[in-house]
Amino acid sequence: MSFDTDVLISGAGAAGLTLAIDLARRGVSFRLIEQNAQPFSGSRGKGIQPRTMEIFEDLGFVDRMAAAGGPYPPLCQYRPDGTHKVSLLTEADVLPTAAEPYAAPLMLPQFATEAVMRERLAELGHHPHFGTRLTGFEQDAHGVTARIEQESGEQVVRARFLVGTDGGRSFVRHALAIDFPGEALGVRAIVADVRLEGLDRSAWHRFQFDSPATQVMICPLAGTDLFQIQAPVALEGEIDLSPAGLTALIGERTGRADIIVRSVSWSSVYAMSARLADRYRIGRVFIAGDAAHVHPPTGGQGLNTSVQDAYNLGWKLASVLAGAPEALLDSYEAERRPIASNMLGLSTRLLGEAKQGTMRRDREARQLDLGYRGSSLNVPGSVGGKVQAGDRAPDAPCRGQAGQRTRLFTVFQGPHWTLLGYQPHDRPSAIAGVRIVTIGNGYELVDEDGHIAETYGIEPGQWILVRPDGYIAGIFPSDGLEAQLSRYLPHVLPSTRTTRPEGHEGGKR
Ligand SMILES: Cc1cc2nc3c(=O)[nH]c(=O)nc-3n(C[C@H](O)[C@H](O)[C@H](O)COP(=O)(O)OP(=O)(O)OC[C@H]3O[C@@H](n4cnc5c(N)ncnc54)[C@H](O)[C@@H]3O)c2cc1C
Repeated sequence: MSFDTDVLISGAGAAGLTLAIDLARRGVSFRLIEQNAQPFSGSRGKGIQPRTMEIFEDLGFVDRMAAAGGPYPPLCQYRPDGTHKVSLLTEADVLPTAAEPYAAPLMLPQFATEAVMRERLAELGHHPHFGTRLTGFEQDAHGVTARIEQESGEQVVRARFLVGTDGGRSFVRHALAIDFPGEALGVRAIVADVRLEGLDRSAWHRFQFDSPATQVMICPLAGTDLFQIQAPVALEGEIDLSPAGLTALIGERTGRADIIVRSVSWSSVYAMSARLADRYRIGRVFIAGDAAHVHPPTGGQGLNTSVQDAYNLGWKLASVLAGAPEALLDSYEAERRPIASNMLGLSTRLLGEAKQGTMRRDREARQLDLGYRGSSLNVPGSVGGKVQAGDRAPDAPCRGQAGQRTRLFTVFQGPHWTLLGYQPHDRPSAIAGVRIVTIGNGYELVDEDGHIAETYGIEPGQWILVRPDGYIAGIFPSDGLEAQLSRYLPHVLPSTRTTRPEGHEGGKR
């Protein structure tokens, strides 16, 4: 039976868009469908963490994202006696370093983040199909037969794989009967994007004069003239989300009659819970993003974790579609589910702190230390001076042999694997899908300030293999490098075609 597309992606939120962009740049055929007729218009996930910014750099739109948003303002906490205290949301000394180019989270309302992603997708020649809902599917050994509904009627789409990036109420997760255990956290809250008078835009305003249940947080949304209001509300009952209703709620909780909501562009009432799917894959069908995990918004983790799920899955799907063993796809759940499990703990703990007014987003929230040390994709015994297999491959400024400034992240950027050789005696044969880069004086990259040696602890003659998603797969000595690569790469690449560089018989390159 023929296929209409290789990958059907259901849900064009942050996870679905990330997967679509990654597959588009890899030349994989896919279809991205979205049940809503229009793009999502709310601010919800407004915090982009540094690790996600690194991913957005790889996908080609981090600067556009930063230009559309801005930094988090300081937090201004008002006390009942009329005084207030200003503090930073993240530690004051968080500055970019050679290894970590993005230090602090970026603020951008989710509707703006998704707009930038759709623009990037359009540059790559694709767009989400709005007003198109997945209503059913069956799978067999070769593919998935899906039913989709549009205004014009129902259609059947045959795809090799289906990915449900369809949010917390995931149709795909339900259809697969995947359990979603966890707990309701006993907190209901409002979130609303408003234009208002009476507060300046230089701080995130937090009022709590009584119990945590009466707090209200009002945050200026970077890149817009809107404020985001967040406040816990009673577990039951109607909430008035009109401008007058929100003005009254703010008045009651702040004691101020001068804060007036003029208009509401989007609002929602939601009950917080923490849940994690038992499985992320059944056969040829996957779930990613909020479809696989939901949690309180504290700490700004959800959208980021969703983007990183999709980024983990994209290169694996592309590789398997091109002929790599299907077992590679098992590593998606094995790598991503433990990350979500930890994140659920973090955001639930921060919710407790937020209730007490003591929440602080520390290094853990920035997601730079997340990795896959236990992964089956790691080459055994790959432990280097400063990094080991499964770790995020750090950035490092350096210079090209032609004299230009560059960085390791520029070398990594794109859909390929990277093999870094530090002052190697020899250069392995070229391998399709792997960019081989040598480092040292007289080699391709010059580590003139020693950042690469310092951050990686790499020794002369050593090689480091970096995955397409920027994690270290293996660390090798030069002896037996080609044999090790030819044992490892067939598990992760479609076919390991090697070619000796012309006229090259060894020696420095
Ligand atoms: C108040 C609040 C604040 C938050 N703050 C942050 C933050 O600062 N940082 C952060 O990282 N996260 C934050 N989050 C969480 C973040 O919004 C979510 O984690 C994120 O939206 C998940 O992205 P997703 O693509 O997985 O799912 P979604 O954004 O939910 O997208 C799923 C899409 O699938 C579509 N869909 C569903 N069913 C179907 C179907 N059958 N067919 C076709 N399409 C379908 C839906 O219409 C939707 O567009 C916050 C959330 C809230 C509520």
